Amino acid sequence: MDTQRDHRASLAGETVSLPEKMQETKKDERDAVVYMNFMKNHSCYNAIPTSCKLVIFDTKLQVKRAFLALVANGLRAAPLWDSKLQRFVGMLTITDFINILHYYYRSPLVQMYELESHKIETWRDVYLKSSNRILISISPEASLFDAVYTLLKYKIHRLPVIDPESGNVLHILTHKRILKFLHIFWKKVPKPAFMRRQIQELGIGTFKNIATVQQTATLYEALAIFVERRVSALPVVDEQGKVVSLYSRFDVINLAAQKSYNNLDMPMWDAVQGRSCFIEGVIKCYPYETLETIVDRIVHAEVHRLVLVDRANVVRGIISLSDLLQGMVLTPAGIDALMS
Ligand code: ADP
Ligand code: ADP
Ligand code: AMP
Repeated sequence: MDTQRDHRASLAGETVSLPEKMQETKKDERDAVVYMNFMKNHSCYNAIPTSCKLVIFDTKLQVKRAFLALVANGLRAAPLWDSKLQRFVGMLTITDFINILHYYYRSPLVQMYELESHKIETWRDVYLKSSNRILISISPEASLFDAVYTLLKYKIHRLPVIDPESGNVLHILTHKRILKFLHIFWKKVPKPAFMRRQIQELGIGTFKNIATVQQTATLYEALAIFVERRVSALPVVDEQGKVVSLYSRFDVINLAAQKSYNNLDMPMWDAVQGRSCFIEGVIKCYPYETLETIVDRIVHAEVHRLVLVDRANVVRGIISLSDLLQGMVLTPAGIDALMS
């Protein structure tokens, strides 16, 4: 008798709770695509600031002058104009500076004549001869979703927005700008349930094979890791793997500012001292923190990544803006641009 009653009760329970459950699932599904839809419904033009500085280099300019001009203007990248072809042919970024230093550096006693004398076009001839890299750009009318996809698919950090009619570069979009734009509307869009989940549980980020550099290693060794692993920053660690500071590609530009690129044999602790960075210490996160907390921290700190550490301060992962945009915008669309 009792068993029968229990059975009826559970059947009755099911008839009541099933539609509720379905509704909840539907709500979760709707929620999950909120940021994807936001990006699809806003154009690149929407995310362009009303005023910003843009510098363009002719490919005939000397590389050294170009990097000094980036420093002098507080910029990280510039589109390259080929006056013979009368079109933009590529970008010059700090990665190019790193590649040049790594390619030509021998020792503090040997001057890098190539850095002194090369024009941008000469360097491009040397470096790009094996690949036929073309300029990756986007139209102002394209959606921010397309911009995120392009940045992640091509593994670049600078996406020039080019007006198809005039051919002018209007802005250079970055992950930082796009996430910041979403963050401005943060309170106006419903918060997906996944934002309250732990980063470790969501698996957003890189947790294996983290590229780090010992504080006793030389700067040249760090540049070699940048070149080989193509990572955007290296946690600087002690012998126990505990993070002591962070050295990003951006920091390498200081070598141009201080004209100290002739001594790449300096240890990492000296290189870290030479950064012109206002950030004290390392901006970190923990595996148990929620995605929401992490997004807030990275946006407010205006950095490209957080170093994930355990309670002993040992590096366990990297959560970069690429990972966040992949997880919040592309994964809900069923796209994995980071893996491809
Ligand atoms: P950063 O050094 O600022 O992190 P990237 O990761 O974007 O820059 O640059 C990696 C390489 O890709 C560099 O050689 C750079 O010149 C090139 N590159 C960057 N953006 C573009 C682009 N929009 N189109 C073509 N090449 C690019
Ligand atoms: P970009 O704006 O070119 O993406 P980054 O965010 O890589 O540049 O770096 C900007 C500055 O912030 C650099 O001096 C870098 O060392 C510092 N920085 C970046 N990420 C962190 C972090 N997680 N902790 C501490 N400093 C950081
Ligand atoms: P980023 O170049 O920082 O936009 O990141 C591109 C991918 O590389 C992301 O999946 C990051 O988690 C990963 N990544 C960034 N820095 C490192 C690093 N030092 N070691 C391993 N992976 C990294």
